[in-house]
Amino acid sequence: MTHQLDALAGPTSTLIPVSLLTGFLGSGKTTLLNHLVHQPELADTLVIINEFGEMALDHMLVAHSTENLVMEMSSGCVCCSIRGDLVKTLRDITWRYSRNGRRWFQRVLIETTGLADPAPVIHTLMTHPQIASKYRLDGIVATVDMAAGMNTLNQHREAVKQAAVADVLLLTKADLATEKQHDALLRRLDGINRAAPRWDVSNGEIAAQKVLNLGLFTASGKQPDVARWLSEEAYAESESHGHAHEHHEHNHEAHDHSGHDTHGHAHDHGEDHHDVNRHDDHIRAFCFTVEQPIAEETLADWLELLMSFVGSRILRVKGILNVVGNAQPVVLHGVQHIFHPPVTLPAWPSEDRRSRLVFITRDVSKDVIEKTFHALAEGVAA
Ligand SMILES: [Zn+2]
Repeated sequence: MTHQLDALAGPTSTLIPVSLLTGFLGSGKTTLLNHLVHQPELADTLVIINEFGEMALDHMLVAHSTENLVMEMSSGCVCCSIRGDLVKTLRDITWRYSRNGRRWFQRVLIETTGLADPAPVIHTLMTHPQIASKYRLDGIVATVDMAAGMNTLNQHREAVKQAAVADVLLLTKADLATEKQHDALLRRLDGINRAAPRWDVSNGEIAAQKVLNLGLFTASGKQPDVARWLSEEAYAESESHGHAHEHHEHNHEAHDHSGHDTHGHAHDHGEDHHDVNRHDDHIRAFCFTVEQPIAEETLADWLELLMSFVGSRILRVKGILNVVGNAQPVVLHGVQHIFHPPVTLPAWPSEDRRSRLVFITRDVSKDVIEKTFHALAEGVAA
């Protein structure tokens, strides 16, 4: 980690942004894509779709990928893999879609098949040398079928994972869902991913700006929007519940508020278990805060420890860190035990200089995260 900190990418990155569109089978991704590609914001977006999908897309820039060539990474770890077909596609499109040395597209949108694990795609973008040097993940968008969603979540762990790691949830087919189904699914999504904004989509209609520029680095020259990227308020516990509520309300303009009341109710009872009923999706999402600057050695040891023991169950980590000896904040982003090289931001986004890490895990509690950190931090101090 020490050496990596020296060679960091700047925040006004020239890397090509990649949006990942995941979502349950039959949740209306095709209709959605057809609406998106006709909006001016997506005119220069190259869309990569699955070769075996039946989708016809009325767009100039469409490439195909097979999505069946998943390769283990050299570590030999079962949970970490990259997509070989996608590597080839992402490598080829830069010359296939260029003329006189100029690229035709400015961003990429990858549509994955219904039940694909999003991790291999993210790993590909984060770690493959030829890909990571050209592309960056902008955000993960997941469509959720409001009528069939509950069944899909019950039957497929990958569907839970897609929803859990998404930066934005698009709620489709609400017209086919009963009010009861609708409310139950919203409550369940509170437990799986309460930080992601949710937008109602009917007939595939969604404004492109709601699904683009979700990452830390927006248009060049702009200050990175750390607050939005991290959404830490959404994970904060009871004392700042008001914030979480506000956050949700802001994004749920079209929903009635019965789901929120229930959400608040669960909070009032102190426990962080939103779904104490028969659906425990085993997703834990929380924010871990450290008041004092963290020694680089502690950080490196702690992450290594976590990654080797519970790495496969850490679905996503995002953080802004105050590292001893660094006046500027360091941004961390990981999926399972694969980390994007840390990035230094030019300045702290606010007065708050605490290190803040958001964890989305499968059955890894905040307690484990906290205790391992403090054990190592005290070890270093002693
Ligand atoms: Zn792994």
